[in-house]
Amino acid sequence: MEMELRKSEQKFRRIFEDSMDGLILWNNMYQIVDTNCSAMRIFGLTKEKLVGRSVLDLFSHLNEKRQEIINHIEQVTNNGRQCSSMVIEGNDGIVKHFDYSTKRGIIDGLNLTVIIDVTEKTEMQEQLRKSDRLNVIGELAAGIAHEIRNPMTALKGFIQLLEPTIKSQHAMYYDVITSELARIDSIINEFLILAKPQEIRFQEKDICQIMREIVDLLSAQAVLYNVQFHTHYEEQLPSVYCEPNQLKKVFINLIKNAIEVMPGGGAITIAIKSIKDQFIQISIRDEGTGIPKDKIKKLGKPFYTTKEKGTGLGLMVSYRIIEEHKGSIEVESEEGIGTLFKIRIPLKHEN
Ligand code: ADP
Ligand code: MG
Repeated sequence: MEMELRKSEQKFRRIFEDSMDGLILWNNMYQIVDTNCSAMRIFGLTKEKLVGRSVLDLFSHLNEKRQEIINHIEQVTNNGRQCSSMVIEGNDGIVKHFDYSTKRGIIDGLNLTVIIDVTEKTEMQEQLRKSDRLNVIGELAAGIAHEIRNPMTALKGFIQLLEPTIKSQHAMYYDVITSELARIDSIINEFLILAKPQEIRFQEKDICQIMREIVDLLSAQAVLYNVQFHTHYEEQLPSVYCEPNQLKKVFINLIKNAIEVMPGGGAITIAIKSIKDQFIQISIRDEGTGIPKDKIKKLGKPFYTTKEKGTGLGLMVSYRIIEEHKGSIEVESEEGIGTLFKIRIPLKHEN
């Protein structure tokens, strides 16, 4: 019988020690009696340091945490058990989220607290919330674009009807009106392409033409920021097998970023050329703040942004699109001088 007992005790000790969750046993004087490895890892303390310590003093350096624990224990005393959560910022600045629950008197005179690290789960939920919000914004924007397109159709139709009467007297005004209307139309259409998820259709296309359309689209915003575009397109470039709407997204993201890092204005140089008849290279250079060396590897990670209202999704989407084109993006940057994004897309495709 003694053997059986010892075996059973060993079994429970193993379960206690190897549990993935942090476990703390403490007595009614609030003193910690036993802990397992996970708990030691969570608090960054050895067993010797933890045992004998008061649970109230687990975060002796943080007064408000002590109050949280006191509230938790009060609930445990009243209800027999309690679940709570806690956010802790370590000395290294890393924020962690924990759920912890306590059951009173699990063994004679001992209480058990289980601590679970839910940092990853919490962060994931936060990211989901963020991308949900983005989807809503995208849908809203697409809706507004549609609303504008309908009255536009009426305007275009009636202006055409008026052509014979206006054109004789006010030819110049008429031309401005029609060309501006055409411009609004093309911007709205462009915008709808970007807002709506499109069916993916790869085709042979002239990259320079795609880039010209994007430069046109963004020129209004560029003027606002006092930014000039310099474009150099090599002549007679071969067409590229690509998904034009997707490439437009990439160009817009990169050029927008370039505009945004030059709040005082400057030049954006865009060049397209072929390299050894194997690649088309599209380079976009700005004269902005530049990117510190250690931050370059973070580019393209979801939600990495240094902007107050940034999403940190532009580059992620762009990198993915270029990957789907079997291409590559290279970044060269010097702080205070500017940044160069080089996109390469292969000309020859297997299959
Ligand atoms: P967002 O523009 O919403 O911040 P992006 O994915 O487009 O998201 O860019 C991520 C981050 O990369 C930016 O916040 C910025 O710190 C950095 N970055 C991107 N392009 C440039 C650039 N041309 N110059 C300097 N930093 C840049
Ligand atoms: Mg961006």
